[in-house]
Amino acid sequence: MEKIPMEILELRIKKTIENLKKNNMEAYCCENTAEALELFKKLVKPGDTVTHGGSETLKQLGIRELLKSGEYNYLDRDKSGLTREEIEEIYRKAYFADVYLTSSNAVTENGELYNVDGNSNRISAILYGPKSVIMFVGYNKLVRNLDEAIMRVKTLAAPANTVRLSCETPCSKTGECISLKKDNPSMCDGCGGSGRICCNYAVSAQQRHKNRIKVVIIKEQLGY
Ligand code: SF4
Repeated sequence: MEKIPMEILELRIKKTIENLKKNNMEAYCCENTAEALELFKKLVKPGDTVTHGGSETLKQLGIRELLKSGEYNYLDRDKSGLTREEIEEIYRKAYFADVYLTSSNAVTENGELYNVDGNSNRISAILYGPKSVIMFVGYNKLVRNLDEAIMRVKTLAAPANTVRLSCETPCSKTGECISLKKDNPSMCDGCGGSGRICCNYAVSAQQRHKNRIKVVIIKEQLGY
C-alpha cells in the first residue's frame, strides 16, 4: 500500500470515525496493537462469552492468546483437533455470544463497513446475533467509498485470503479477480466452484442498534 503521510492519515481517520459515529457505531483510534489490546480489556468483561471470525488481523493482534487466559468464556473455533461438525457448532453458538471479534475487509470514509465471505459465518454474525461486535481494523483497510472497497477486495483481500485458506481460485494465482477482465463486472462474475470466497457481500450502513458494532482503527498495517 502507498505510504500515507501521518497528517493525511489522521484526517482520514478523523473523518471515518465521525461518520461511523453518525452511523450509530462506536469508533476508536489506537496508535498500535498494544493500545488496541488494552481497549479490548475495557470493552469486554471477564466472563463474557467471546468468539471470532477467521482473521489475519486478529492473529497479528495476538487476541487468541488473550482469550485463552481463562478470563473469558472463549468459544475457540481454532482449537486443534476439532472436527468439522464441532467447528460448525461453534459458528452457530457465535450468534448467542456476548462479543464477536473480527476485522473488516474495508471501512469507507462515509462510515460504511464492507465485507465479503464464502462460508459467511462471519458476515452473518456481524449482521445479527452477538450482542456486541468489535472490529479491529488496520489503517490499510480505510478506503474513500464503496467503489474503492469493492476494488480492494477484488485486488487484495480476496486473493490474499484465498492464498491463506488454500482455495483453488484464479485470484490466488494471479493476485486479482478474473471478473476484472470484463468491462462492467457484476457481483456474480469471477470464478465458480467450491473455492470461491466471494459469495455474500455485506454493506453495514447506519445501524438501528446503536453501538452494537464497535470499530477500532489501528494506526498500523494489519491483515489484508
Ligand atoms: S470471485 Fe473468485 S477469482 Fe474473483 S476474487 Fe472472488 S474468489 Fe477470487
